[in-house]
Amino acid sequence: MSATPSAPTRITHLVGHRAWQGEPGRTSEVCNPATGEVTGTLDLASAETVGEVVAVAREAAREWGRASLARRVRALFAFRQLLVEHTDEIARAITAEHGKTHDDAVAEIGRGLEVVEFACGIPQLLKGGFSEGVSTDVDAFSILQPLGVVGVISPFNFPAMVPLWFVPIAVATGNAVVIKPSEKDPTAVNLIADLWRGAGVPDGVVNVVHGDKEAVDALLDHPDVKAISFVGSTPVARHVYERGVAAGKRVQALGGAKNHMLVLPDADLDLAADAAVSAGYGAAGERCMAISVVLATESIADELVARIVERTRTLRVGDGSGDVDMGPLVTRAHLDKVTGYVEAGVEAGAELVVDGREGAEALGPGYFLGPTLFDRVTPRMSIYTDEIFGPVLSVVRVASFDEGLQLINDNPYGNGTAIFTHDGGAARRFQHEVEVGMVGINVPIPTPMAYYSFGGWKSSLFGDTHAHGIEGVHFFTRTKAVTQRWPDPSHGGLDLGFPTNG
Ligand code: NAD
Repeated sequence: MSATPSAPTRITHLVGHRAWQGEPGRTSEVCNPATGEVTGTLDLASAETVGEVVAVAREAAREWGRASLARRVRALFAFRQLLVEHTDEIARAITAEHGKTHDDAVAEIGRGLEVVEFACGIPQLLKGGFSEGVSTDVDAFSILQPLGVVGVISPFNFPAMVPLWFVPIAVATGNAVVIKPSEKDPTAVNLIADLWRGAGVPDGVVNVVHGDKEAVDALLDHPDVKAISFVGSTPVARHVYERGVAAGKRVQALGGAKNHMLVLPDADLDLAADAAVSAGYGAAGERCMAISVVLATESIADELVARIVERTRTLRVGDGSGDVDMGPLVTRAHLDKVTGYVEAGVEAGAELVVDGREGAEALGPGYFLGPTLFDRVTPRMSIYTDEIFGPVLSVVRVASFDEGLQLINDNPYGNGTAIFTHDGGAARRFQHEVEVGMVGINVPIPTPMAYYSFGGWKSSLFGDTHAHGIEGVHFFTRTKAVTQRWPDPSHGGLDLGFPTNG
């Protein structure tokens, strides 16, 4: 007897630690991409609802901005513990809505947890400077203060990790947050936001508003939202940056990617092949740091392609909640887009070495595509120029290190890149000359630790500040420089001159 699908769950905004009680206007469907089943009905916020949520956050920001560092740190530690305890539950929600494997979902929460741990050290990070006696009886010091209400807008591909890049630091620095998660996989953010309540953070400090463009634009336009951290595709990142800045906000908008990995003739080819397969097909290629182009120097290209092919044959594709290596793509529309690129690659004359469409339908009604490999791709083909965001790897054969480096630097994106070599001199030159924000040397997905900052260059980031690390602390705070005089009682008198020091 087949199980009857349960009725879709209503998923709504979280305001002041409570589920929003209003009447939803527009809604959208949330699906399990492994089965195609509709599992949720998501409320999409109107501009008015966004206004209600921001008003709650604004009130909370007043109190939380004055909370002692000791109190904030205790909340951070408590939140860390709750996140650890709820990892499995959150990971299950991610797999059910995004499609990635359970292990991968646990891993993304783990990377988010590292940011929470970084934020636990906030007293050290918020220390300003102090100079005693800059002038007679005068001391100078700086303090870092919260901004007030900040918005975090996140993409579908890391429903837990990306919000966790920002929210713990925003909270630790004394701000209130309104999170607008992706409408494709919204549940993980609700589960995580609820943990802040248990951690003792006051109502209204962490809020979630669900929605689409209308909600995003309302956050961008709202005068009480002082900063926006956005992660998503490049066209939307550009829009968010321009509209947010025009409204007078501080904005960091991280965009799309087309990450290249350059393999030199002296590289360990097994290491390079493992890296290409892991970084190309992990999470079905739906990672902003996924490798999508392998630049293989001509003398090793045949051997490298053979080793990649060998490894793709071992990958198990299926429902991410089972024992598989790769789950489905996030939606039917995204699957269609990615398979459209596979067709375009064939038409453009690239050599389709592994065709992930084969056997995909037999996996069931989900949005499956197996690992796909093209060889002899040229820089004019759309599979090279466009971000595909699926399990499609393109091998471009290059004559030399210089040709490979030039291709990377000519690319409009600059998120991540990697070089595989045993030549330290070549690696050093690469690290110095490549125009990309995050560089791996014999490391395919060089995602920085929480205490460094994450961000790309060129069309992969609009704004000046990268995510987390010390740049994250600066993004969520304003510096105030204070000059104080406690004069000797004998000192005083009028002086209309410009202040000089003596
Ligand atoms: P997306 O740009 O479609 O959506 C991102 C967010 O913007 C979502 O919350 C969505 O609701 C909202 N949005 C979508 N269209 C909008 C519009 N027209 N106006 C205002 N808001 C809008 O991105 P996605 O498909 O969810 O995520 C995948 C993309 O994110 C890829 O391009 C990937 O490279 C990128 N990404 C980048 C990084 C990074 O660190 N640079 C990290 C993760 C993902």
